[in-house]
Amino acid sequence: KTQTPDEILQIDSVFSKEDLEWAGVVRKWADDNLRDKIGDWYLEGTIPARELAKELGQLGVLGMHLEGYGCAGSSATQYGLACRELEAVDSGLRSLVSVQGSLAMFAIHHWGSEEQKNEWLPRMAQGEAIGCFGLTEPDVGSDPSNMRTVAKRDGDDWVLNGAKMWITNSPVADVAVVWAKTDEEDDKGRPVIRGFVVPTDTPGVECPKVQRKLSLRASITGEIVLDNVRLPADAMMPKAKGLRGPLTCLSEARFGIVFGATGAARDALEQALMYTGSRIQFDKPLAAFQITQQKLAKAFGQYSQITLLAAHLGKLKDTTGVRPEQISLGKMVTADTAMNICRDLRALFGGSGITSEYSPLRHAINLETVLTYEGTHEVHQLTLGRSLTGINAFA
Ligand code: FAD
Repeated sequence: KTQTPDEILQIDSVFSKEDLEWAGVVRKWADDNLRDKIGDWYLEGTIPARELAKELGQLGVLGMHLEGYGCAGSSATQYGLACRELEAVDSGLRSLVSVQGSLAMFAIHHWGSEEQKNEWLPRMAQGEAIGCFGLTEPDVGSDPSNMRTVAKRDGDDWVLNGAKMWITNSPVADVAVVWAKTDEEDDKGRPVIRGFVVPTDTPGVECPKVQRKLSLRASITGEIVLDNVRLPADAMMPKAKGLRGPLTCLSEARFGIVFGATGAARDALEQALMYTGSRIQFDKPLAAFQITQQKLAKAFGQYSQITLLAAHLGKLKDTTGVRPEQISLGKMVTADTAMNICRDLRALFGGSGITSEYSPLRHAINLETVLTYEGTHEVHQLTLGRSLTGINAFA
């Protein structure tokens, strides 16, 4: 008797009935509304972000793990499972949700003032307003402490100058959370980094689109150019001081990636099982050859490992809390393993595997971005290396 990967894994003993019912709702919505269109969006290098945001808002996934202000207050595991089902269609779609909920909304929810929360969060939860998160710059990626963007006081106002690069959603965003160095100094005499809530229609803000991407094409990526952008005093998020501000948000978003990557891997495996079961060569289905079964079994083994790791981290986050190095472990292992699964399975589709008809190659190429953003693979290796050895090898 044939069993699906999740049946062999007995996924219903890994996640609760309620969690799996919710995952089923997101999966059905994503299959009905996104699956037919994703190949074209990917080739066109864009998505209808505004319409999608509203639909995702209605589905209830935007900022679903946050409490109050129109957010559902769901468990971390349920949020993770939503990410898993969206990334089973495409990493770009999960990125839209991650950046909105875990970066932009989480930043305002965790570090913002009551006024900032009331102004933005209910509309963002509904998908009526789109947010982005500007930390990376053209010259500064892995080492954000060296950022060049500055925020200077001018009377009561703030004036921002600088540029952010590789910012998901920025060309379609209504609001940007921008991190900048201020004149204030910390106890070691270094400029203090602060976060600002910047409406993108403020004079001096431009968000041109990054062109020619080969990966994560079903996601809109842009710059945020800040040229003497004048903001009122209350644009600064009062509670975030120093790099801890943005790093806390990144930890949230990485958690979504941990689950999301397992979705891409599952989808590649399911598609490979379907294809090799029906494609006949040498008078037999491809699935009847030992080398095919070896590839499928290997991918299934790896998929099982990352799914169990994601579930474990979800359980920790919902109970005792999850530490940054545990999130690094999850992001490092799941993104890399999922990419290898998708790349290996791609071969089973022969020539058809290089078209947009089948997902494994698209997933594998997307996961190149997932490996890079939210802390590169190497940065997470260094984080874990530091935890294991007690030696900081970053600099
Ligand atoms: P660099 O930091 O220059 O790194 C280049 C290489 O050097 C990498 O392999 C890196 O691992 C390695 N390296 C760096 N330092 C070390 C070290 N100490 N030891 C060993 N190796 C090292 N950023 C945002 O702020 N918001 C977003 O919404 C966002 N969305 C993105 C969407 C896409 C499609 C992409 C591609 C990126 C996005 N990013 C975003 C930026 C992303 O987080 C950065 O690209 C990432 O942090 C790496 O920075 P970098 O590209 O400047 O590479």
